[in-house]
Amino acid sequence: MEYQEIMWAEAKPDIYGGENCDQIEPRWEACADGDMDSDTFDHPIELCCKTFPPGTKVTVSVPCCPECGQQVEMCRTDDGCEFDWDQWVQNEYS
Ligand SMILES: [Zn+2]
Repeated sequence: MEYQEIMWAEAKPDIYGGENCDQIEPRWEACADGDMDSDTFDHPIELCCKTFPPGTKVTVSVPCCPECGQQVEMCRTDDGCEFDWDQWVQNEYS
């Protein structure tokens, strides 16, 4: 069985949020196959089982630390790794 990806979403925080444009506000950026534009929104992604055909799979991926290789939440709680995720967010989404 071959699969084709039809939707993508990325947790792309708005790092210029808030009144002073210095707050990090969580939001999704999503696009679908065939869409020219992507959408950004801050409500949960809804994947209703009735709107997708049987066999549809949903995968969620999180970034892994370039230094220790652990996924982000594991790395953040690991005192042994110094990777600066806040700085990464600033660079990635500015
Ligand atoms: Zn790490």
